[in-house]
Amino acid sequence: MSGLALFGGTPVRRELLPYGRQLLHDDDVAAVLAALRSDWLTQGPRVAAFEAAFAARTGARHAVAFSSGTAALHGAVHAAGVGPGDEVVTTPITFCATANAVLYAGGVPVFADVDPERLLLDPDRASALITPRTRALLPVDYAGHPAAMDAFATLAARHGLCLIEDAAHSVGASLNRRPVGSLARMTTFSFHPVKHIATGEGGMVTTDDDDLAQRLRRFRNHGLSTEAGQRRDGVAWRYDLVELGCNYRLTDVAAALGTSQLRRLDANLARRRDLAARYAAAFADLPAVRCPTVAADATSAWHLYPVRFDVARLGTTRDTVIAALRAEGIGVNVHYVPVPSLSLYRNRGYRAEDCPNAAREAEQLVSLP
Ligand SMILES: *Cc1c(COP(=O)(O)O)cnc(C)c1O
Repeated sequence: MSGLALFGGTPVRRELLPYGRQLLHDDDVAAVLAALRSDWLTQGPRVAAFEAAFAARTGARHAVAFSSGTAALHGAVHAAGVGPGDEVVTTPITFCATANAVLYAGGVPVFADVDPERLLLDPDRASALITPRTRALLPVDYAGHPAAMDAFATLAARHGLCLIEDAAHSVGASLNRRPVGSLARMTTFSFHPVKHIATGEGGMVTTDDDDLAQRLRRFRNHGLSTEAGQRRDGVAWRYDLVELGCNYRLTDVAAALGTSQLRRLDANLARRRDLAARYAAAFADLPAVRCPTVAADATSAWHLYPVRFDVARLGTTRDTVIAALRAEGIGVNVHYVPVPSLSLYRNRGYRAEDCPNAAREAEQLVSLP
């Protein structure tokens, strides 16, 4: 123990290894420069090209780009018709943006508990919380592992609900050989630099539904009846504002980066899979460290590598484990503090104890780089 950097020893790394960050190649830089030198910084052809490439990759009919993963979630929740008082069943083990998107629409997030093994929203517990006010189900592919999408699709069909999958962690993952992006009515993605594909800020919604795609495009463009591209190409100068939308457009500069990054998705997934396997092998003999597992019918995109430390067994605290690893230059983090226990949600009457699996397991979580 005295050799630990926390107690004055030499750190194993001189520079902090972040838990996740972008990988940029020269062709990414060239793609961005070409966009900067083009006629279109935004609302140009590179956004459409990124959308087409992303739709092809995920097996979806439509892909609609947004300015962030959060904006994509907001767009999807809006397109699903969620309005004031409508309930959306989601998971406590996620980034706050998932539940916040429901609040933006005036809806009410309802947190169902997760399964204690993979910390994914439990379909049976979600089912038990469906009421006449429920409008949508919003599972999250935590850490890159697809949620139980078949069970949620059945549940959504039975109750007439819209199924939205938050796939911010799972681009490139699959379930029963079907790619994430074609499993739900709408699937949302993020291109924040810690995710697999970086555009700075950026997001996407995929869907097979023509009407939903149109609603998504309109919502990201203020609620205007036509997009600038259509006005440019057609004769009509007329436009109308048909609903209150937002400006959630992705720029062509970001889209150029996205298309370039998407070409290396398979290589990035292979690298993450390799690192996950090395972690699992390295920790196989440490009973106090519980590694994430992948179901037989799934592949994970391995956005995160969250291990659970049995700190009672180790006779320490999670804070000490995290401080010790950071002192060594290992940039560990916690994903996540359960959303119901965040002040905004607590002040609205949510209680972490209502999702006991999430509350208990989250106490042990530490994400490795
Ligand atoms: C990153 C993330 C988001 C939000 O994406 P941004 O692009 O950062 O807005 C939403 N949900 C989950 C689960 C995420 O990890």
